[in-house]
Amino acid sequence: MAVQPPAAGRRTVIENAAIATVDAAGTEYPRGHVVLLGDTVESVGDGPAPTGLADVARRIDGEGHLLTPGLVNTHHHFYQWLTRGLAQDDILFDWLVALYPTWARIDADLVHAAALGSAAALLTSGCTTASDHHYVFPRGGGDVLGATVEAVRELGLRFTALRGSMDRGRKDGGLPPDHAVEDTDDILAASEAAVDRWHDPSFGSMLRVALAPCSPFSVSTELMSRTAELARRKGVRLHTHGSETAEEEEFCRQLFGMGPTDYFESTGWLGPDVWMAHCVHMNDSDLAKFAETGTGVAHCPSSNARLGAGIARVPDMLAAGVPVGLGVDGAASNESGQLGTELRNALLINRLHGRPDALTARQVLRLGTMGGATVLGRADEIGSIEPGKLADLALWRIDGLLHSTVADPVAALVLGALPPLTALFVNGRQVVDHDRLTTADETALARTCARAARTLAARRD
Ligand SMILES: [Zn+2]
Repeated sequence: MAVQPPAAGRRTVIENAAIATVDAAGTEYPRGHVVLLGDTVESVGDGPAPTGLADVARRIDGEGHLLTPGLVNTHHHFYQWLTRGLAQDDILFDWLVALYPTWARIDADLVHAAALGSAAALLTSGCTTASDHHYVFPRGGGDVLGATVEAVRELGLRFTALRGSMDRGRKDGGLPPDHAVEDTDDILAASEAAVDRWHDPSFGSMLRVALAPCSPFSVSTELMSRTAELARRKGVRLHTHGSETAEEEEFCRQLFGMGPTDYFESTGWLGPDVWMAHCVHMNDSDLAKFAETGTGVAHCPSSNARLGAGIARVPDMLAAGVPVGLGVDGAASNESGQLGTELRNALLINRLHGRPDALTARQVLRLGTMGGATVLGRADEIGSIEPGKLADLALWRIDGLLHSTVADPVAALVLGALPPLTALFVNGRQVVDHDRLTTADETALARTCARAARTLAARRD
């Protein structure tokens, strides 16, 4: 079904919905309205929309719904959509060693299919902006990053492409096989080229680029330092995995004589332009350094549980003032691939330390929206429903069987089952309609992804 984007200057009105704006004051309206003008939010408020609005192209009755900002995904590996359900019971290092050889055989066509699958799962679970950390670039694999960019353009997702990298293979004490890593100088040249080709820093941009060496155990110290310098010269953000497991901590102490956070500090990797995935094994000093420098965190509760990595100290991070967003992580360690369900998982997992108020439903909704926007450096554009911000919105149905008896709309979304998604708007364009993509045929997409997964599984060196 084709739902056309609103022409610039045309209005879309949504009324009668409960609205959680996630603005700084946490303003909510039990029965409010939002007016979209083209790709931006024109107004939000209590009760019905103002009368006499001109150029209204569409009115949506939000009765029985909760309207929230679109969710923001801060960590993912789209290509892993083709390698789900493997190494089901391994810790991170064993899981990586099991999967690296398969990943090293991907190419642009396979990554295009995988990115469509991953982006579709995000969109249909309420996500309007995502980042994708891609760090596997096989020789002769074609334009892998370009394939990802093309896929998100097709589906209409707002996007930050992370040019990832690995240059520390086994012969240099790293974890990946030597044939899966790239040359350091080649990586830096390709990273700069990716920024020049795609990075759009303008307000409302649908495509940005950040630089993202993979992890301390797959990247040389030289590449970490030189990537930080390059990113700052080009004015783009930095991302990597950090403090994910006890084994990574041990690796860093043996190889560098210090823990991961001190290592990041020594390579220029703490600052307000940096965010890291996981940050599970952090002591008080590590947290203080993140807070002092404004370094952000992508909290990935399902992946951390899937790999038995541990529980990140999110309540302590928030208390210290660390910016925190949510991430699904790659689909090989979170087969669900849905961001909406991470709200519930983040709340539940952080309460397992024995504090029932460790994270509230509203705090978790903020992590998944404004928190992610802040971590991606876009707090002035997305993450809340406020006049002048971009029209990225999720309209959740909460009057059905699974939700109609939940006393509070935000609790229905966060504590209950993931509600049906009546509509998802990205940049004012409706890209999901009653749980279905408006931009692609999901049945055909599922077949394309399955065929790509079979092709990859059958591929041998
Ligand atoms: Zn990851």
